[in-house]
Formats: sequence, C-alpha cells, structure tokens
Amino acid sequence: MQPVFRFAPSPNGLLHLGHAYSALLNEQEARRHGGRLLLRIEDIDRLRSRSEHVQAIFEDLDWLGIAFDGPVRFQSAHMDDYRKAADTLQQRGLLFACDCTRQRVAREAQALSGPDRLSTDPDGAPLYPGHCLHTPPHLDQPVAWRLRMEAALQTVTVDDLSYQAFAGPRGDQNSEWITRPTAPQRWGDAVLLRKDIATSYHLSVVVDDALQGVTHVVRGRDLEAATDLHCLLQALLGLPRPHYDHHDLVTDTDGTKLAKSRMSKPLRQWREEGASPAMIRSMLGFESTECHNG
Ligand code: GLU
Ligand code: ZN
Repeated sequence: MQPVFRFAPSPNGLLHLGHAYSALLNEQEARRHGGRLLLRIEDIDRLRSRSEHVQAIFEDLDWLGIAFDGPVRFQSAHMDDYRKAADTLQQRGLLFACDCTRQRVAREAQALSGPDRLSTDPDGAPLYPGHCLHTPPHLDQPVAWRLRMEAALQTVTVDDLSYQAFAGPRGDQNSEWITRPTAPQRWGDAVLLRKDIATSYHLSVVVDDALQGVTHVVRGRDLEAATDLHCLLQALLGLPRPHYDHHDLVTDTDGTKLAKSRMSKPLRQWREEGASPAMIRSMLGFESTECHNG
C-alpha cells in the first residue's frame, strides 16, 4: 500500500516558518517512503478563513517548490461528509445538544468542588461541567453537539485507543515507531459540532484523513493531545488509524528555538527581503532541492 501524507493548513493567516517546516517534513517523508503528498485546506471556519489566504498558501508552497499530488481538498466543500459521521455518532447515542455559553461553562466549572474544579482540557478550556446532560436545551435555537465522553469510552477498549507514534531521531533511516496509549478523557465532553459551523476541527480532520486514505499524519507537537481525541473518534466511527509523527516546533540550526519574531514572520516577507527557497530549506535543516541530484 502506498503511503499517503498530507499538509493541512488553515487559511486564517499567512504561512510562516513553522508551517514551512511542517510542509517540508511531510514532503521529505513522503519522498523517502515513496508516498503521495496531499494538500488540504482546513477552511471550515467561515469567519476566519479568507480566500486571499488560500491564494497566498498556494503561492508560498509553490515558491518553496513543494509539489502536491491529486486535487486539493477544501473542507468547506465537504460538510455532508462531516454530517454523515455526526449522524453515526448520533445514532449510537453518543452526542448531546448543548446551548451553554462560555460564561455558563466557566460559572459551573467554578462551582464544582474537589479535583474536578477548574480542570481544563488540553486547549485550556474548562472541562464541560455537564449542565445540558441533565437539562437538555430546546432545539429551536442553535446548539452545539458534544460527545458523551463517558459513554463513548465504555464502547471501546484500551487497544482501540493506542496508536503508532514516531519516536526516533529525525532523519534517522531506522525510524523508530512506538505504541502510544491515549487519554481522550482529558478532553471531556468535547464539542464535535460547533454552534456556528455544524462541524469542528476534530471531527473534520478525522473524517478527511480517512476519506483521503492518509496513512501518516506528520504535524506539530502542539496537536499531540488532539490525537488522543482523534483516535477515540476513529474507534467510534470505525475508521482506519494513520501513524502519527508529532514533530518538535521549529529550531534553529544551532538547536535554539527560533526567536518568536523570526518564527512568526510570514514566508512572503522572507521572500520580499530576498530569501530564496533554498535558504528557507537550509535554515530549517532540509536539503535544498537544487542539490538533490548531487
Ligand atoms: N489545520 C491545522 C492547523 O493549521 C492542522 C491540522 C492537522 O494537521 O491535523 O493548525
Ligand atoms: Zn450545555
């Protein structure tokens, strides 16, 4: 089976060095495994996604010299796919409607006692205190749909929830894959369908990786905790599970973290200031394509 990798930026801003690193790492790994590299535009958030950012993403990736296989997938064009997945969870009784505001969640979280008080999910939001589990909202107004975490966990085994994670030194031919257990419960009753967009990052990404046949997810360490929830969703939806490689955030060639100002400087600004794609590649520790035949 040919491996499939993907780069999946959200068009709510310009690409910077961190994105370039992730894209180049996917390119390198795809090439090394003789695999395909797909591009997915994660534009479910209608308010934050901009067509000029989509255009800029295409231009920047093109400038970097990264070639993608197959058609680009725009998440906004596939709401039906997410709806179907949500229906499956709904039919299994694993979703509940929630009309809580952030304020109500915060207030109820404050009011809890014991270890539950003020516990947060990996994104820093308070764990859902449960208001709508015992007081269901009227459905004549917009509601979010949350996962019944406790019920969901009862339908899966520990084995259902572990994944193969890359743990070897970067660039080593003897890639080392370890089995990593997950702890999806740290997300609590996560929102899977947002009030405003009828899907969520977590649901869309899991559905898309499966529909696109992605076998290797290479993305930043900042999304490592999200993978725990993604594995649970794969188990609940009967979807195949890719391998995961959560890469460290960008470091300079001398091993120090790139200064925040350098990190967040858009790629196009580097370009305007005279940087070449080869310079960007080498700054991020990749072989330049120009030397590739040497
Ligand atoms: N769209 C996400 C981002 O730009 C990445 C999603 C993923 O790689 O799973 O942060
Ligand atoms: Zn609620």
